[in-house]
Amino acid sequence: MRHLIIASLLAALPWTVSAAPTWQTISSEPGKRIEIDRTSLKRDGNTVQAQGRIVLEKELTDAKSGAGYRVIEAITRYDCNTRNANTIKRIFKKNETEVIREEDIKGTDLPVRTGTLDDKVLREVCRPPKESPVELAKKANEAAGELKAANEALLKKEMAKAEKPAAIKASDAPAKEAEHSAIPSIRPNLKAAMESTKEAAPAPTPAPAKEAAPAKMAAPAKAATVVVHSTPAPTPKTRKPAKSEGYMLELTHTQAAVQHAHIHWAYDGAGAPENWSNLDPKNKVCAIGERQSPIDIKDGIKVDLEPIKFKYQPSTFRIIDNGHTVQVEVGEGSISLTGKTYELVQFHFHRPSEEKVNGQRFDMVVHLVHKSDDGQLAVVAVLLERGTENPFIQTLWNNMPLEKNMPVAPPTATVDLNSLLPATRNYYTYMGSLTTPPCSEGVLWLVMKQPVQVSQDQINIFSRLYKNNARPVQPSGGRLIKEGR
Ligand SMILES: [Zn+2]
Repeated sequence: MRHLIIASLLAALPWTVSAAPTWQTISSEPGKRIEIDRTSLKRDGNTVQAQGRIVLEKELTDAKSGAGYRVIEAITRYDCNTRNANTIKRIFKKNETEVIREEDIKGTDLPVRTGTLDDKVLREVCRPPKESPVELAKKANEAAGELKAANEALLKKEMAKAEKPAAIKASDAPAKEAEHSAIPSIRPNLKAAMESTKEAAPAPTPAPAKEAAPAKMAAPAKAATVVVHSTPAPTPKTRKPAKSEGYMLELTHTQAAVQHAHIHWAYDGAGAPENWSNLDPKNKVCAIGERQSPIDIKDGIKVDLEPIKFKYQPSTFRIIDNGHTVQVEVGEGSISLTGKTYELVQFHFHRPSEEKVNGQRFDMVVHLVHKSDDGQLAVVAVLLERGTENPFIQTLWNNMPLEKNMPVAPPTATVDLNSLLPATRNYYTYMGSLTTPPCSEGVLWLVMKQPVQVSQDQINIFSRLYKNNARPVQPSGGRLIKEGR
């Protein structure tokens, strides 16, 4: 109680006074520690807004102001259900008190990767409140009771329905879906409900129990994962769209686009690239931005570039056809450049290559999307040209999902991203943007100069899904392009 009073007093004080004593270290590792300000937590359904910070041992130089900073504070909204993080403000500080620069960010809804700062904060803030074993047991009993009642009601409904003509039943799709989960679901879901309270899993306790309830309950549960994902588009496949689209980091604001316009962004038709900015105010930069991607890479200055340090390792993977591309997530991996580490978030494909090199497009390109602790995105592009079969890509294609937005996670198949990289790792680099709405700028592009080969058959397989998912090249507008020599 006393703590509560102190906390609320602190919250009421001016920022500079309250900041210092409320930081709590949640993770400490060589070179940095991660802290959160408990008084900053704002809960709204499944989302929690929190202020966190990274305190670095060594000072880094802010590229924008040239000043040194050792503390990066970030205000982020975490979706405990989808495990997405959306940073809305970042403050760079020389030390505990001295602000170097603040930036308000047009929220980018990103999936949170294991081991990152966001992962640590998310675990912390999404943890259900601690309860006594007695309370837990009581909750589990209540959940079991609710489930039993729900299932009994469903069973009754199903039995009543069985007496109706078959034609009506066949057309009643939602009920049919519920049918499968009726009786057998009680046991596994009760177990899940208990486990989630026991292990303090990120998802709030009532969620797993609700999943077992009749299909009609699915809608309110989904609507609760708000803030960025509000209303899913009324497409015929409304079952999972919000969740699966969140995986495409490069397309982070697709949801926002869906919210405001019924036309979904695409590569042709009404949602074509020239209309992206009209589909949602958040996409404005697609039209008015002056540092957009892709570009025709030419007239770069030839210099010695620092080699990119790739830290990839063999891993299982998860592959999804998200309606815009085929996208893959793997286990931990990162790149390091100029003293900064960027964690791999996902990679995906375009056909043909979005970037041109000296006016020429390649057959395809892979974009490996990375994100640093301070939120900067770095995309490594590996150009693909027709040639011999690529074993890395073959493993992925072997596991290609049969349906859009239905991810496949093979239990044993593995891929090693090192084997996708070209033998020579020289590259072009320039500052650009996401190549899909909302076209956010400030993205560091690292385009491998040496293409790698894929077979015609492999290109054809991707073409069956996406004949053209490349944004047209954008004006480079006198931007500096560096070419490793
Ligand atoms: Zn891309």
